[in-house]
Amino acid sequence: MILNKASVRIPLVRVFSLALSIILVLFLLLSGLTFSKLLNFESVLKSFSNNAMPKIVLSNKLYSEAARLLEYTSLLSTSYSDAAKRLATTQLSEQVAKIRTLSSSNAKDEFLDTQLDVISMELFEFSELIQERSHINVTLTANEELVHKLYIKAKSFKSNNNSSWEADLSQSIITLDRALTSKRLRETRSLFMLIETQLNKLYSMPFSLGNSVARQKLTIELKNLVFRNNGIEELVIANLKLMGRVIGRENFLHHLINDYTQLLELNAKVIETDTSIKILKSVKEIQKQINIVGIIFINAIIILFLISLFMQRKILKRLLLVNQMVQNRIHGKNHKVIINGNDEITDLAETFEAFTKTIEQQKQELKHMSMSDSLTGIANRRAMDLRLQHDIELSVRQKSSVALLLMDIDFFKLYNDNYGHAAGDECLKLVANILTGVMKRKGDFVARYGGEEFVCVLPGTNADNARDLSTDIINKLAQADIPHEYSDVAKHITFSIGIAISNAEQVLMPETIIKQADKALYSAKNSGKNCFKLYSNAIESN
Ligand code: GH3
Ligand code: MG
Ligand code: MG
Repeated sequence: MILNKASVRIPLVRVFSLALSIILVLFLLLSGLTFSKLLNFESVLKSFSNNAMPKIVLSNKLYSEAARLLEYTSLLSTSYSDAAKRLATTQLSEQVAKIRTLSSSNAKDEFLDTQLDVISMELFEFSELIQERSHINVTLTANEELVHKLYIKAKSFKSNNNSSWEADLSQSIITLDRALTSKRLRETRSLFMLIETQLNKLYSMPFSLGNSVARQKLTIELKNLVFRNNGIEELVIANLKLMGRVIGRENFLHHLINDYTQLLELNAKVIETDTSIKILKSVKEIQKQINIVGIIFINAIIILFLISLFMQRKILKRLLLVNQMVQNRIHGKNHKVIINGNDEITDLAETFEAFTKTIEQQKQELKHMSMSDSLTGIANRRAMDLRLQHDIELSVRQKSSVALLLMDIDFFKLYNDNYGHAAGDECLKLVANILTGVMKRKGDFVARYGGEEFVCVLPGTNADNARDLSTDIINKLAQADIPHEYSDVAKHITFSIGIAISNAEQVLMPETIIKQADKALYSAKNSGKNCFKLYSNAIESN
């Protein structure tokens, strides 16, 4: 493992806190923004439904009620009877009151109120005019009836030759009828002048043409009826003048009412426009906010993605590396795993690395312990077994030989008994050292076989070489001169050595070569000790 530790330490706790804080801030920002925009939208809708909408409805209602005023005014202007006039007047004043009530529930508009006051005043005056007209009409009708009576009276006079007077009278009555129905003042005036002429002529008509005193009296009566003060002529002319005033005032009233309705319409339009502008503005604002929320949302997603990417790189990937590192160690591999950073994960990797090193050391120590002899420090019998197996296999491949020397200290029991066990141990250590020193080649191997027995595995060594080395061992022991006064063969520690060889001609199994060496050793012991014997068929048969 390679730990690439950055100089600045960034603990994971801080990284997690920062990431969580960013997520929290983003969440709060998004929720706050969305909530405030919803509130805005709600307030726009509220103001529309609470203010604008009722105002528009009221303005439209006022408009239609005001339009009905026109209808009632026309009704009043065409009402010639008192009853009709009363009905129309009542309807008008009720309608004005209705409009006033409606407009008072709306926002106060002084101009509109003044306009309504003026309409109400004008309506009153108009109704007065209608009243006056109706008055004149009643008087005029009464006078017309009198004229009619006079005409019937005239018809009732008996005369022999009355055709001319009667014809002229009829002519006058026809002219009077025309004057009564004429709508133009000038024509009416000239018709009345004609009537006067006709009546004067009728009055002064000779009796021979049917005139008489009674008829002259009737003519004067008729003339009086027409031309006296407040007579038919005056009434008709007054009526015509009044008609003009009625039409003028009615037109004026119509204009006033139209102005009023147009004002109401304008007001409604202003409210409508104002409201639509507000709604449009809000819609635009909301659209803008939706865009902002959208941009923040996209950015939030990008930031979250980056955070997760960062977390993945900073934590997950590195944890996987740590796991891979652990797996490698479990499977005994020592591949390079690079872990960057300086945080809890690198701490964990470091601790694990230290832990594995300790385990590795302990393992090596255990392995060494299991393969070495605790007293002498050289290899033990287990190690020798493995080495022998390996060297024999190698010799088979290389078609070479392996020599095995099995050595046993002579009279060692006596040594122990006399010098003590501790001295025996020391002696064993010295012997192990001497043996190690005697080994010439790199592949030569020495082990303690057990007790006071040692063994040498010598690859690429034939019988002659083995004999030479055995001689060398015996000599080296003699030179070492480890005192052993109780030995029967020398005054120092000596070895008896049994030699066995496995070569290309006769490859031996490890157990066989050991057995043969043991037999050769036995032979050496029997031959007086402090000597070596090479295994042979002769030894086998003994
Ligand atoms: P021989 O010449 O026939 O080999 O006789 P010997 O006395 O050497 O052989 P024997 O088998 O009778 O005695 C071996 C002795 O080696 C007995 C035992 O006390 C001693 N011995 C074996 N292992 C150790 C050891 O680790 N330390 C010590 N001090 N003595 C040991
Ligand atoms: Mg022995
Ligand atoms: Mg012995």
